[in-house]
Amino acid sequence: MKNISIITLGCKVNQVESEKIAEELENSGYNVSMGLGLSDIYIINTCAVTNEAERKSRNIITKILKLNENASIYVCGCSSENNPENFKKSSNVKKIIGTKDKLKLVDAIKSDDSEYDKNSQLSHLETRVSTRTRADLFVQNGCNNFCSYCLIPYVRGREVSFPINEIEKELRILEHFSKEIVITGINLSAYGKDIEGSDGLIEIARLFKNSPSRFRFSSLEVNVITEKFLQELQSYNNFCDHFHLSLQSGSNNTLKFMNRHYTKEKYLESVNLIRKYFPNAGITTDIIIGFPTETELDFEESLEFVKKVNFSEMHIFPYSKRKGTVAEKLKNVATNIPQRIEKMTTLALENKRKFIESNIGKVHEVIIENQKEGYYLAHTKNYILCYIKAENLNSNDKLNVIIKQTYADGAIAEICQ
Ligand code: SF4
Repeated sequence: MKNISIITLGCKVNQVESEKIAEELENSGYNVSMGLGLSDIYIINTCAVTNEAERKSRNIITKILKLNENASIYVCGCSSENNPENFKKSSNVKKIIGTKDKLKLVDAIKSDDSEYDKNSQLSHLETRVSTRTRADLFVQNGCNNFCSYCLIPYVRGREVSFPINEIEKELRILEHFSKEIVITGINLSAYGKDIEGSDGLIEIARLFKNSPSRFRFSSLEVNVITEKFLQELQSYNNFCDHFHLSLQSGSNNTLKFMNRHYTKEKYLESVNLIRKYFPNAGITTDIIIGFPTETELDFEESLEFVKKVNFSEMHIFPYSKRKGTVAEKLKNVATNIPQRIEKMTTLALENKRKFIESNIGKVHEVIIENQKEGYYLAHTKNYILCYIKAENLNSNDKLNVIIKQTYADGAIAEICQ
């Protein structure tokens, strides 16, 4: 039986798609592992979100060939859609498939593999999902937003929502094995726009009514934060009060050049609405530093806005120029990028510490994920990483803990007796 390694870069959607490829290959009798290891066959699921992500995607080929110079390599994902030539240089690369129907790689591997034995078909989807505490439910693909800095609409194509009955079928399998489900999509907030009569994400939430798993959304845009949406979510005790609300900039001028379709005032309204219904919600975000038009004043405005929101966690990215986007052609006036990143990161860490401190003494439900340095690791519903000293816990154990103090990138928590 041949060994196949799948190396995944980039977003949650790529991870979900790699899992699906892995399932199909295992069902076809292959031995599949995730990550870079010694194998006969490799699949690289690439990312194009930044120049750095594209460089990393290309460099994986060199790393693979150091491990096995005879490896057969198959490439899929956004970077291979955007720049297929970058992957054609090595004769070890057998097929490049882009973003459309990545599962076709499975057929390509089987037809190239002279030793492939049709009779070795297995059916062990269950063994793949059973080990995961947190599973992703992929409900939507593509994006029509065309933020001026982003390549995704060009490489992933237009928005497509998956039919609710198919999503439900997938959920019923996942909830059997994973105690937490993350609802995910390329532009998740667009879910249902292309389905007549759809109630959007509320319809997905309703699938969790009697589910044994708790659920959270991976990333949302401000347009979906309405009273109706939050009231619905409030009625589920298995909903995780964690909202990842993409900001990208806290300067109205920059938001306009980014083609983000909201102002900082609208964003703050959404945050306040969330806090009205979920006072202790974790509100996390992404922010881009050094967008071409971002002047020193714009950056200071952004910093001030971030102070006002008090995010529980932030992902800070330096702007990356992507060929073919509108932002590529903008005059670059942004300076002092490393200093700006440092200022924003300092503020983000301070806000995170304050958020965790505000939870000290509070009881939280957690689900054990794994172990590190003598602690069990688990996230609260509002997404605080807890370090728990205990014995004989297993991954997927659900328990209540009390947060004691900040620690490393999260908090020390004790099991409630
Ligand atoms: S919403 Fe904007 S940043 Fe997100 S995938 Fe669509 S175009 Fe890219």
